[in-house]
Amino acid sequence: MSSETLEFQAETRQLLQLMVHSIYSNKDIFLRELISNASDALDKLRLESLIDKDLEADTSDLHISLEVSAEDRTLTVRDNGIGMSRDEVVQLIGTIAKSGTAEMLRKMRESKDAAAKQELIGQFGVGFYSTFMVADKVTLVTRRAGEKGGTRWESAGEGTYEIEPVDDAPQGTSVTLHLKPEDTDDQLHDYAADRKIREIVKRYSDFIAWPIRLGDSDTPLNSMKALWARPRSEVSDEEYHEFYKHVSHDWTDPLETIHMKAEGTFEYEALLFIPSRAPFDLFMREGKRGVQLYVKRVFIMDDCEALTPQYLRFVKGVVDAHDLSLNISREILQQDRQIQVVRRRLVKKVLSTLTEMRESKEKYLGFWSEFGRALKEGLIDDADNRDALLDLLLLPSTASGELTSLRDYVSRMKEDQKDIYYMTGESRAMVEHSPHMEAFLAKGYEVLILTDPVDEVWVERITEFDGKQLQSIAKGQVDLGATETPAEQQEEFAPLLKWLGEKLQDDVKDVRLSSRLTTSAACIVGDEHDITPTLEKMYRAMGQ
Ligand code: ADP
Ligand code: MG
Repeated sequence: MSSETLEFQAETRQLLQLMVHSIYSNKDIFLRELISNASDALDKLRLESLIDKDLEADTSDLHISLEVSAEDRTLTVRDNGIGMSRDEVVQLIGTIAKSGTAEMLRKMRESKDAAAKQELIGQFGVGFYSTFMVADKVTLVTRRAGEKGGTRWESAGEGTYEIEPVDDAPQGTSVTLHLKPEDTDDQLHDYAADRKIREIVKRYSDFIAWPIRLGDSDTPLNSMKALWARPRSEVSDEEYHEFYKHVSHDWTDPLETIHMKAEGTFEYEALLFIPSRAPFDLFMREGKRGVQLYVKRVFIMDDCEALTPQYLRFVKGVVDAHDLSLNISREILQQDRQIQVVRRRLVKKVLSTLTEMRESKEKYLGFWSEFGRALKEGLIDDADNRDALLDLLLLPSTASGELTSLRDYVSRMKEDQKDIYYMTGESRAMVEHSPHMEAFLAKGYEVLILTDPVDEVWVERITEFDGKQLQSIAKGQVDLGATETPAEQQEEFAPLLKWLGEKLQDDVKDVRLSSRLTTSAACIVGDEHDITPTLEKMYRAMGQ
């Protein structure tokens, strides 16, 4: 087969456009992305060679090497890791598999403001494509470990790329950037200078566990220590943040870092992060979740779902467990008792970290607006931690425009108020203007306004908080104190109720006198156990 010219997938083309026109101000990070990919490739090869003894791969000196040529204006990042087959190159480099790409691009097009655009692309992260911020041509040569032939890929980052087989490619991948003129003439961006490269590696990639060598020198530029194995006091925030970006593929600093070490019968270290931004796919079914699993410094897998519950899918990081087998499968992990113990501890630790975060109101509000909806799912799934989760809730209410915790709600309850009142609905305005609200507002009772679809589900499970019942104002008989309708009224209205009941028999179960209303003549109430309209809609949307 000879050289072929292929087209990038439409989304990829649009992303490349954005990259080429460099809307991201910190160009240095392209090198971090390439080193991150090289490091992943070395991790994968080591694991594969440990599991598959027949793999014909050279693992004697796994490393990353950087070469610069001021004369040719090139920078090459090379690894002798797993490499890619031709199909993998087309799949992985020619297309963007990330869910939420279309959505991101749409937002990007709609946004006029350059800073907002930059933030979006930073949030999305563009990995390999970030090379086009500094290069007008990129050449990638790769050979998958164990395979004979290699592949050469080249693109100017416009609409197409060239791909062809090569016979003499070494194992692993090399990426050569043909640097744009402005990036070598300008002292600030001289990516063909040793000094600049040294500085960027030290800054962004020091923790990479493989040696990163520059030119002919054998002395690595990086210290190579696994960050999670170092004492907390010796690791700077910046190092934690760069490590976070490596494991999460996020471009933004994390909101919180959690470093844990457990000794005893089952030893492990964990370095977890709470991101400051929700990924686009947080609520998509195929969205990624889980942290990375290592066994004694050897990378085992990405997205290890067994280590964190679904509702904490936004937590990123690494768990290094010391006593697991290297070729443990995802299925076995789910059953593993030790993994279950670790998982319980991680959950407790994340929740206690969030509880502490509440002391800084602004920070916690930031967290809540990104991940609150995911956390609410825990009220449904995680009965063991229900109390901690209830204390972490922030909900809108009729009291003010601000969110309130349940505890604060309780502290504001009227003396004669027994229950915690809430109403679910599609929007704040709908709930506020509901006839159900009238009597509660008249009495000065605060009502929680629950408008997330997931609210409908958790309120079904949680019946009380702090000894107080959670009571929907739109369901059943709500006891508002002295509200019994007098007997004479019951009698007086009996014929009307009977008539209405007959007229509406196909639509309602019962017609009752009520003390709930002050100005409206009538309202519709759900039965204690009926599902609400929003929930009905949600189930329908989920195809149930
Ligand atoms: P991400 O790293 O977030 O997956 P990238 O754009 O950085 O996204 O890379 C896309 C994919 O291309 C990687 O997931 C990996 O499968 C493949 N890839 C990139 N660089 C290398 C490399 N040096 N060796 C092997 N595979 C690579
Ligand atoms: Mg990457």
